[in-house]
Amino acid sequence: MNRDCGTPETGDSDGCVSRRLLLDNLFMTLRNRIILPVLTALTICSTLAISEPRWPWRRRVNPNVETFHVTAHKKTPIELWPNEPPCPADVTPERFAAALKILCDTTTERANRYTAWVLQSAGQFDLDPFVLAALIYDQSNCRPVSYKRYQKRGLYSLTHFYPTMHLASVKKDSYRYYIKDDGGWREKTLPLTTPLNRWKAANPRDNVYLAAATLAVFREQFPMLQKEFKWSPYRHYVSNWIFGDWVKNPEPENRILTARRRLIEYFQATPPMPIGNYNGTPLFSPLDGIPRLVIDYFQNRRGNKSGFGHRGIDIDGAIGEPVRAVADGQVVFMGMDKPGGGEHEELSPEAASALTEAEIPQGGGLYVSINHGNDFGTIYMHLDSYCVTRYQKVKAGDIIGTLGQSGSKQSGPHLHLEFRQEEQRVNPAEYLNSVLVNPYKHLPRRIKRRKANETSSQTVTH
Ligand SMILES: [Zn+2]
Repeated sequence: MNRDCGTPETGDSDGCVSRRLLLDNLFMTLRNRIILPVLTALTICSTLAISEPRWPWRRRVNPNVETFHVTAHKKTPIELWPNEPPCPADVTPERFAAALKILCDTTTERANRYTAWVLQSAGQFDLDPFVLAALIYDQSNCRPVSYKRYQKRGLYSLTHFYPTMHLASVKKDSYRYYIKDDGGWREKTLPLTTPLNRWKAANPRDNVYLAAATLAVFREQFPMLQKEFKWSPYRHYVSNWIFGDWVKNPEPENRILTARRRLIEYFQATPPMPIGNYNGTPLFSPLDGIPRLVIDYFQNRRGNKSGFGHRGIDIDGAIGEPVRAVADGQVVFMGMDKPGGGEHEELSPEAASALTEAEIPQGGGLYVSINHGNDFGTIYMHLDSYCVTRYQKVKAGDIIGTLGQSGSKQSGPHLHLEFRQEEQRVNPAEYLNSVLVNPYKHLPRRIKRRKANETSSQTVTH
């Protein structure tokens, strides 16, 4: 005969019956006090949401945003970024074009042409021309060549402008957008002298104009959008230009603002300056447009249980930007890692640039090694190209090559920088602190412990 708790009516198992009653009571209480009120509240909320939309426009979304190092960018609290430099006064076309030529690594003719478009469009909407030019550089590298490839995704010309995102906001010759004040959302219009459509967006000159117009709209809406569409914290309206109303992560704006800082440096013709020292040797920043973001830290084991881990630090960057020697010294190696590890192949700059992507094995890719004397050396990896040869003497701040992603296709463009003292690896972040934004400043306890052990063992051996 079945006498378990499933048959309480038999009555000869008092303990089970009272426990069952207790559970029933508990369920009733839960249902009446929590589940039903929550369901009711949800129904009321959804009804309200349907009857009165929070935003009186169709949400603007761009699904084509390219990102590489989202984790590091999201990990960096926006307070870690210092204020961006203000837009320089007296922006003369000649100096702006000269700076744009360096940033875009392009011809004088093209730099002059783009400068005219940028200054004219930025002036029309009272925009910062350095933001507009940095956007052009970040999106298309100032080369609107691969129309077909991008147009398939709805992106057009120099700024990779995405008309689809804006079409619902355009009526006749003006852009309709909303601003929030005490009385709720209020409609505003921005007259456009060039119609916003795909055909105009495909024309580089009109493309720059349309980018400036939409940047101006987002600049005005930015404080409200930031509050209403909470997702990821961000600093600049260019984020909205990239993503639309919802900003998913701050990586694109960090890239664009870095390009803007570089452009301002070139515009002001700021010479490379010492930013710290290594045991008395003056150090310069390896990259322009400081401060630069650290995206991976020294000794990170990246999931491996043992071993030294990451031998240097990774700094976020754009393909083709200049990489500079951090101190005076002599080039002792330039070449690439060979498959299997441990071996290296020396290559002239010409031979290195003739290599195809497939010919460079995964690992450090193309790299340059410099000896600075007193057993101090630095290594620059994943370069796109280099312009130095063996035994060449370099000065601190000299360009030695360009940043790339050779040997690290999956991890996106970045500079891997190593410091060595004799055969020991040293953490470069400790010496370049003043030019880095470093979300990994407070290293995990595991690494601190390892470092303490190493120091004590070094003390024993020395
Ligand atoms: Zn690295």
